[in-house]
Amino acid sequence: MPELPEAETIVRGLRPEVVGETVRRVEVVHEDVLRQPRRAFADRVRHTALDAVERRGKNVVLVLDSGDRLVVNLGMTGRLLPFPAPPVASRRPTHPAVRLRFEDGGVLVYDDMRRFGALEVLDAEAWSERDEALGPEPLSDDFTPQILARGLAASRSPLRSWLLDQRRLAGVGNIYASEAAWAAGVHPRQPAREIPAPAVKRLHGAIRRILAQAIEGGGTTIRDYRNARGEAGEFGGRLAVYGREGEPCRSCGTTVERIVFSNRSAFLCPACQPLRNPRRRSKGGRS
Ligand SMILES: [Zn+2]
Repeated sequence: MPELPEAETIVRGLRPEVVGETVRRVEVVHEDVLRQPRRAFADRVRHTALDAVERRGKNVVLVLDSGDRLVVNLGMTGRLLPFPAPPVASRRPTHPAVRLRFEDGGVLVYDDMRRFGALEVLDAEAWSERDEALGPEPLSDDFTPQILARGLAASRSPLRSWLLDQRRLAGVGNIYASEAAWAAGVHPRQPAREIPAPAVKRLHGAIRRILAQAIEGGGTTIRDYRNARGEAGEFGGRLAVYGREGEPCRSCGTTVERIVFSNRSAFLCPACQPLRNPRRRSKGGRS
């Protein structure tokens, strides 16, 4: 599933290809990826120009000159593939769901094999509500160690669940949650409010560093993720624990473990990330 670095890589690749284009026609091949009726969606996108391509959390946001936002949640296997005019035969969409045909002959294809993704046009007010419901951007100045500490202290959720909750922090999914927890030395199941202050500080630094490095590497390719040019990301080879069950920890050599909770895998080093018991023995052994 594309997370923040993959969405950011897609946005950066799309910008030079589609900003300034005017949509001549909207073709909906699979209506189930739309969050509104086909007619309403097409009417609001047709004859608009794309003013900007932005990202919020894991979402790609196409800013239309009408003031509306076309918000794309890529789901598991969603891709946004721009095809300039004339089309390049070697890069063909495999599972096109929606096509935006531009005045100049170019096409932007939303391609999605499993169709867990979603496209939705929101007016300025609805977008603003959606935006405010999401947590801070981890790479923005709004995301300070104090904000993270305050958020964690108010929650008894396991760290991994906390990190995946887009209302608390926008853009982190299962891959980067595992990586950040490892780098901070915190067990993914550790209740958020029991994480000691020094580990919270490490976690803050780790989230920002890992996401920035992943963007630099063009994202992580797990299964079908590709950037706007159809290329695989390069960060996968640098993952510390995610997908490395049975391999040695890059820090201490202990075997990386996979655990499952809330129906999803988490990867960790049991030596680097011990589950801390909050009820520590008092000094002198009395309790
Ligand atoms: Zn280790």
